[in-house]
Amino acid sequence: MICFLSGGTGTPKLLRGMKGLHDFAVVVNTAEDIWISGNKVCPDIDSVIYALADIIDDEKWWGIKNDTFMTHDMLNMLGFSEALRIGDKDRATHIFRTELLKTGHSLTSATRELRKCFGVQQEILPMCEEDVATKVITPEGEMHFQEFWVRRRGEPEVMDVVFRGIEKAEITEDVERVIKNSTAVVIGPSNPVTSIMPILSVKNVKNLLRKKTVIAVSPVIGSKPVSGPAGKLMRAKGYDISPSGVVDCYSGLLDAIVVHEGDNAGGVDVFRTDILMKNREDERRLASFILDVLGI
Ligand code: GDP
Repeated sequence: MICFLSGGTGTPKLLRGMKGLHDFAVVVNTAEDIWISGNKVCPDIDSVIYALADIIDDEKWWGIKNDTFMTHDMLNMLGFSEALRIGDKDRATHIFRTELLKTGHSLTSATRELRKCFGVQQEILPMCEEDVATKVITPEGEMHFQEFWVRRRGEPEVMDVVFRGIEKAEITEDVERVIKNSTAVVIGPSNPVTSIMPILSVKNVKNLLRKKTVIAVSPVIGSKPVSGPAGKLMRAKGYDISPSGVVDCYSGLLDAIVVHEGDNAGGVDVFRTDILMKNREDERRLASFILDVLGI
């Protein structure tokens, strides 16, 4: 079994490619979770579930394919603006999760119930049970990552990124078991700062990873991330925007990194292939390449 560390866009593509090729479990970032209109939204967990259930909107890489937005639009008409554009079907997931949490389920157990409902066989595990919130420090002050990225379209200058509550985050029994039982850990092509750093910052995760074979797939090609604000955030954290900068973000944990053809990185073994996933075939090809790298 392979253990993946995932955010909500790059890695889910790879997970879709890995489905059916090899057993895996996924530890998912929860530092972008947010309460919206009374419901707990876990953007990265939901994207992983929807990707593996084959219902993700893979144009936007969030939400459910062909969803409608009647409730969101009606709320807007009433003068209530939601921090994220929530689809009607997607909202049902958030309502169900919140009801499960209210009746005593942990986030781990609520996620298990949900992914089973969607017919997903792979274990999908939140990185921790505690609330952690990614905040972007800008000249205007501190803002939630969703405010920065969705409402403000990533425009404000970024001075720093912090994970509020991370010092209280404990590794769960399930995450510990999955990492210990895995033959290798793959850090997928996700935002190193907002998706992977929070997972690595949960108590004891780094210690466990040091005992495993760990490889990463770069979310950066050349000197640019494939998509999203990773570059701006890496720079704010003092990292080079390059595959080497990605290696540095993972502070001594990596045995190898998979980079794009023509790219390089220092300090670890480097494997080169086309790491851009434009379609299902690319996803499958990259997943097979990773199995080759791992000798599986
Ligand atoms: P988020 O939670 O929505 O921010 O999603 P992730 O952190 O999982 O993924 C965002 C990262 O995925 C970005 O930094 C992108 O550069 C990277 N990414 C997206 N698509 C691809 C792709 O096809 N190939 C690679 N190598 N990286 C990708």
